Amino acid sequence: MNECDVFIIGAGPAGMTAALYAMRYGESVVLADQGAPGGQLLLIDEIENYPGLGKVKGFELAENMEKELGKLGLSATFMEVSSIKKDGNKFKISTSEGEYEAKAVIIATGAGHRELGLENEKHLVGRGISYCATCDGPFFKGKDVVVVGGGDTALTDALYLSKIANKVHLVHRRNEFRGQKVLSDKVRSNEKITLYLSHQVVKANEEGGKLSSVELENGEVIKADGLFIFVGITPNSSFLGSLIETENGFVVTNGKMETSLEGVYAIGDVRNTPLRQVSTAVGDGAIAAFEVDEYLKRKS
Ligand SMILES: Cc1cc2nc3c(=O)[nH]c(=O)nc-3n(C[C@H](O)[C@H](O)[C@H](O)COP(=O)(O)OP(=O)(O)OC[C@H]3O[C@@H](n4cnc5c(N)ncnc54)[C@H](O)[C@@H]3O)c2cc1C
Repeated sequence: MNECDVFIIGAGPAGMTAALYAMRYGESVVLADQGAPGGQLLLIDEIENYPGLGKVKGFELAENMEKELGKLGLSATFMEVSSIKKDGNKFKISTSEGEYEAKAVIIATGAGHRELGLENEKHLVGRGISYCATCDGPFFKGKDVVVVGGGDTALTDALYLSKIANKVHLVHRRNEFRGQKVLSDKVRSNEKITLYLSHQVVKANEEGGKLSSVELENGEVIKADGLFIFVGITPNSSFLGSLIETENGFVVTNGKMETSLEGVYAIGDVRNTPLRQVSTAVGDGAIAAFEVDEYLKRKS
């Protein structure tokens, strides 16, 4: 049985920060991730709103966080966590690499994209439909694309795509954007972006197995090779079952990042937080590690 003080699930910015602080508190830490360390940072082209760094590439920030952990002797272990069980004062964590035992658990599993719900959406992923402009944008050089959404991600990625694509059609179901004003101002003044406010995409048409056009609720058809969907996120919390309290899948915590089960903490995008950003994920990680240290002292 592999044992540790604190088992951190997810090596995005939240999990890596919690690991950094926990290591500095002198705890033994396991940091698990089913993918490459960095989480959603690896999907971001440039981050402009993380204080002190100016503009930074998402993968560079991830790499730097990983290097800092490396200096403390910790690297993320590649494994998927499938369940957590309370066992007396400890927790048993089932993973793709076997079972672990920990005194405390920090859930930092983040979130993923939400689907638009189009009939052939799944079939067209990789054939014109994408949820990640940084990953797939370069395939649409000089082509026409449709972006759906009105939050920060949709606006940032519409701007990013406008540098690559011939034309960007931005469709949003409300008549105002939800995202930051600084971003919506940039979008509105960008000549390559055409706005379709108070409209909805209802159909993705295909030709030869690839997206050919997108249809709006009023029957208007926009010819496009790409459809980028940014309509919200879904928390990666299904593996938790009924272990702790959740709200629409997001883990309920208090300001100390404590969940409804003593010894289990949740941080970053997976929790019910009003703002899902790198800076908030990092802040959550620091608080959780501090609170775990206090908890472990109380229990010992
Ligand atoms: C396209 C895009 C652009 C963005 N732009 C910005 C921006 O400009 N500024 C900004 O501040 N924020 C931005 N964000 C948001 C920011 O990336 C997130 O808020 C942040 O990454 C959340 O960090 P996290 O650690 O909570 O989760 P994540 O980064 O999602 O990391 C969670 C990690 O948990 C792992 N995981 C999940 N389930 C399991 C499991 N069962 N077992 C093991 N591992 C698991 C995942 O593999 C992942 O590595 C953007 C996000 C996207 C997608």
